[in-house]
Amino acid sequence: MADNVNALPFFYGNITREDAEDYLRQGGMGDGMYLLRQSRSYLGGYALSVAYRRECYHYTIERELNETYAIVGGKSHRTPVDVIDYHSQKGEGLVCLLKMPYNRPKGMQPKVGPFEDLKEKLIREYVKKTWNLQGAALEQAIISQRPQLEKLVATTAHEKMPWFHHTITREDSESRLQMGSRTNGKFLIRQRDLNGSYALCLLHGSQVMHYRIDKDKAGKLSIPDGKKFDTLWQLVEHYSYKPDGLLRVLTDACPRPEGDHFGGIGRAGYNNLLEAAGGMLTRIKSYSIPIPGRKKGRGASHSKTTDNLNPYDTRVPNNMVSKESMPMDTEVYESPYADPDELRTSTVDRKQLFLEDGELGSGNFGTVMKGIYKMRKTEKPVAVKILKNDDNNPAVKEEMLREANVMQQLDNPYIVRMIGICEAESLMLVMELAELGPLHKYLQRHKQISIKNITELVHQVSMGMKYLEEHNFVHRDLAARNVLLVTQHYAKISDFGLSKALTEEENYYKAKGHGKWPVKWYAPECMNYFKFSCKSDVWSFGVLMWEAYTLGMKPYKGMKGNEVIQMIENGERMDIPPNCPAEMYDLMKKCWTYKADERPGFAVVEPRLRDYYYDISSQ
Ligand code: ATP
Repeated sequence: MADNVNALPFFYGNITREDAEDYLRQGGMGDGMYLLRQSRSYLGGYALSVAYRRECYHYTIERELNETYAIVGGKSHRTPVDVIDYHSQKGEGLVCLLKMPYNRPKGMQPKVGPFEDLKEKLIREYVKKTWNLQGAALEQAIISQRPQLEKLVATTAHEKMPWFHHTITREDSESRLQMGSRTNGKFLIRQRDLNGSYALCLLHGSQVMHYRIDKDKAGKLSIPDGKKFDTLWQLVEHYSYKPDGLLRVLTDACPRPEGDHFGGIGRAGYNNLLEAAGGMLTRIKSYSIPIPGRKKGRGASHSKTTDNLNPYDTRVPNNMVSKESMPMDTEVYESPYADPDELRTSTVDRKQLFLEDGELGSGNFGTVMKGIYKMRKTEKPVAVKILKNDDNNPAVKEEMLREANVMQQLDNPYIVRMIGICEAESLMLVMELAELGPLHKYLQRHKQISIKNITELVHQVSMGMKYLEEHNFVHRDLAARNVLLVTQHYAKISDFGLSKALTEEENYYKAKGHGKWPVKWYAPECMNYFKFSCKSDVWSFGVLMWEAYTLGMKPYKGMKGNEVIQMIENGERMDIPPNCPAEMYDLMKKCWTYKADERPGFAVVEPRLRDYYYDISSQ
């Protein structure tokens, strides 16, 4: 895994090529001695420095489109460590075999690059401004989308740098550099056009040199014939320690005049962000998916024609639906009542509810239809669970009201929210729409989906479950069929028909007797003692993970309920799904710990999934 690289004793982090050579010299420069460092030009890439016959050789390990790693032009491997293992056996393009790692001196940690410190602040600011989020919604957005946000922010971080002067003219750049101190090497970058062309303007003597920076087809930036970089800040960092073809190294950043910042991420930034998003999106293989209802920021206009005038609005116009959206791009990330102008109500006025033809699904209670709910300011596409009019069975109505009561108390981006109850020709439960339907069916239809995408969705479910655990609710019917997809990258937990609120005193619910239960998803204590807790939901979550990594297969296929119980009692568990990462199967098995007390809670499961997800998505 890419991120575990940090733990390798021979990984030095963000050090320069010269530093690497110094370390190898300290190590004695034996033939085949090597160390690994972070690439300073390719996001997510590494560099391998190797000693041979008293010389140092440096190789870039690029992160490829399909999330594999390779020395440029060489064979692809799953991780940078696999690249090193391979080249310990086969030279293949390298000056010699890799023989001996040179480990970091005792007590030295891998060097953290200058962007790392800035990153946190930039991500927070970006999410706040782009989606108008705050509080828990902001935190949840950052947790679930960190890898994507890091990439976006990395490619736009230059907007925040004092040396970035936006679209000023050549003449303006010269007068700015000549103003104030005239240190040799004083520099700024200006934007030449919106197609990724910039100029590096450098003061040398009394003269200003202008170096053109162009973007190639792969999106890499370089001065003519110069080294290529993914971002402008990497380019500046490189030429700050090495002239590498320039007249001299960059020294002092010429600060942008006060007030000239287009509000942080400005109009040009907006274009860059869209462009960056585009670049990123083409790198990550995704499917063409409709984005059901694009959310309108609270500050944004509702008119279609002015939609894109919000400079922070990076949401994808409907005519460009093939791009990968983030959960925050959709209308169901925040509660409709998060807008203070919308009246919070638990009853929906029938006159405001418009049902559409065609069923979304059905169950014992009746059908689920798609509809539109007209609110004060907006219209929301909704799912409406309609109780079949069955006067003989008041229990079904009661059950639905109980479900509504639980749902009403929950407000989390990874849980289907209830919008309200509508009592009209039938009893109706109006909910947020998750148009792509149940997870298992979606996976059965989309077998090309990546492990990263599955992990992203499963992680979101764990976030929703962690929220339930924190608020003392047990779901009791957690399964892939009850996870609904809003987009291919956004999952929500649904179906709270069996859910219970726990009391402060008891951390479990005891059922009075055996019901019509989803036995294959239930923990031993549910079957043996009718005891349900967040820990028994964790067991079900393990089964849900198994369903997800098998692309929607039926668990314990062909087995009867009591055979499954026997199998569990015998200490046996389901096998690892084909192509399932070992880390994820290991987590499933932890979820299937026999004793509830020894089983991890969602407070442990969620960060484990999060780490793995970041790991396989890391830059
Ligand atoms: P179960 O058989 O699991 O108890 P149920 O009878 O309670 O299910 P639901 O799972 O709530 O019924 O809904 C049945 C189907 O309706 C779902 O599988 C799904 O296809 C569709 N559906 C339910 N809620 C939504 C929603 N919010 N958005 C989109 N589709 C939905």
